[in-house]
Amino acid sequence: MMEGKMKKIDEEEEHATKAKLVCVTGAAGYLASWLIKRLLLCGYTVIGTVRDPGDERKVGHLWKLEGAEERLKLLKADLTEEGSFDDAIMGCEGVFHTASPVLPTPNEGMLKAAVEGSLNVLRSCKKNPWLRRVVLTSSSSAVRARDDFDPKMPLDESSWSSVQLCQNLQLWYALSKTLAERAAWEFCKQNNIHLVTVLPTFVIGPSLPPHLCSTATDVLGLFKGETEKFQVHGRMGYVHIDDVAASHILVYEQEDAQGRYLCNSTIIDIQDLASILSKRYPNLPISNRFTKPEDRQYYEFNTSKLRSLGMKFKSLEEMFDDTVTSLMEQGHLSPLAPPSH
Ligand code: NAP
Repeated sequence: MMEGKMKKIDEEEEHATKAKLVCVTGAAGYLASWLIKRLLLCGYTVIGTVRDPGDERKVGHLWKLEGAEERLKLLKADLTEEGSFDDAIMGCEGVFHTASPVLPTPNEGMLKAAVEGSLNVLRSCKKNPWLRRVVLTSSSSAVRARDDFDPKMPLDESSWSSVQLCQNLQLWYALSKTLAERAAWEFCKQNNIHLVTVLPTFVIGPSLPPHLCSTATDVLGLFKGETEKFQVHGRMGYVHIDDVAASHILVYEQEDAQGRYLCNSTIIDIQDLASILSKRYPNLPISNRFTKPEDRQYYEFNTSKLRSLGMKFKSLEEMFDDTVTSLMEQGHLSPLAPPSH
């Protein structure tokens, strides 16, 4: 009788420990670093996966986070290696799968790492009896790359990007996110895994890694007067990195969170954004040569699903102010750069 009671107490204690144990894939990335920062502040114990835990240049910033010394562990794992995530995921109650190829010049080769990599992570999840929920970072590009919608109707989570259109236009990043998310839903349905996906628009905000990722480099280019990347993006949604991290934790913690969640603060055309930013930061050489995107690119997003869970998004001004400040603090941007117009 006594033995049975002790066993129950042991099990309860083990469960209480596991309840706050989560895995974050791609831990050294732009978004994952911020997510880990928030998870540690919320009291979680985090197992982060990186391709090379010994690379100080890539992981050094993670060890400086509050709580990291006591509650962060980094393990090696690669999306392209079968079973690579088993050790990191076993015993965790939650998995935040953020790792995915994000390249300056997307190419067809990234499809395999994105799709097979996600399945690889989910196969490790399937082996873990403690698993409660998986939160996968998808993208709004898995929603909006289609040309058959009514621009007067905001796109919501029921919309999926067209695989055919992505292939025809060689939108490799959008295709990689669409195929990876579709494959994840299929796998989780078949294997009874509780999956929730977060679909951020363009993520803006301070970078914890000192080396800027692809999107943060694009933003730096915008502040330095480049036009190429953002003219191609045209009309786009923007969301603060802190809101994206908070959204991941919100959909993980809220019992009734289900399905996909679009995560966006503000949608704006590039020439309107450039005009706001050049007035706000007159010392930065932001270009005034952007042109209005073609009509067919007009769209809006409906984010009421995430807002209904209590999410409130930071404003466009707040996200760009925080970005500019951090780029200057990190020495990527000179506060004295003269305006070019
Ligand atoms: P990032 O800093 O480049 O992060 C990508 C992460 O994926 C890196 O940690 C990278 O690891 C990891 N990764 C790539 N290939 C891998 C592989 N073969 N094996 C293991 N890890 C691999 O970019 P991010 O912006 O934070 O992106 C994080 C997630 O958010 C991605 O899923 C991305 O699609 C999504 N997202 C980003 C945005 C945005 O605007 N930034 C918007 C919507 C969605 P290494 O550090 O070893 O390279």
